[in-house]
Amino acid sequence: MILERILHSQGFGTRRQCRALIENGRVAIDGAIVTDADADYPPQGLAFTIDAIEWTWREHAYLLMHKPAGFECSRNPHHHPSVFTLLPQPLVERNVQCVGRLDQDTTGLLLLSDDGAFIHQNTSPKRKVPKRYRVGTARPIEDAQLEALERGVLLHDEKAPLAALSAVRESAHTLVLTIHEGKYHQVKRMVAATGNHVETLHRDALGALVLPASLDPGQWRWLEPHEFDALK
Ligand code: URA
Repeated sequence: MILERILHSQGFGTRRQCRALIENGRVAIDGAIVTDADADYPPQGLAFTIDAIEWTWREHAYLLMHKPAGFECSRNPHHHPSVFTLLPQPLVERNVQCVGRLDQDTTGLLLLSDDGAFIHQNTSPKRKVPKRYRVGTARPIEDAQLEALERGVLLHDEKAPLAALSAVRESAHTLVLTIHEGKYHQVKRMVAATGNHVETLHRDALGALVLPASLDPGQWRWLEPHEFDALK
């Protein structure tokens, strides 16, 4: 594939802009500047730098972010900045999407991708991918509330009760709740239905994937191949 097209496929702008990047000497491969936009390379795994920042060609982007509080999972946010402002521009250009949304005040594990099949696999209700949340509550958590969450609570506008896969008290005000749906404000509404109130909400696992401790709020990294496989 010619270099101009390779850069275009990775979100570095229009074909014309990518050609200009190359011809202006901003692209290097194996430590040498390449100014021929028509130079042919096998794209798979190609490593290149643009303005000394390293990139590797990827057919699709699979990202793992530690979402901070105060960011919306939307490209057109209403009241807070978008999580997409935390990504480099080429990934935004590639049309990376959130794999399921977290509320602006929810923190934790957020996947992003430009692979529609991957997004569908990990958000489809049929797949029942477990999502684990650490929930800080306003009032002490009672046994009856845990039982109600596991038995199922009927939420407004839902036809059937929603039951947690598990609801475990970690401390008086902290609950670890695992659910397999991803409905609007689901955790907050389920906890409210038991007579308590969510004060803090943090997602720490999605399927087999646990939020790595090495990732600070606001940071992201590429999914490792074994992490990708674990989500299949
Ligand atoms: N449930 C909620 O209420 N909010 C989230 O962000 C995620 C799950």
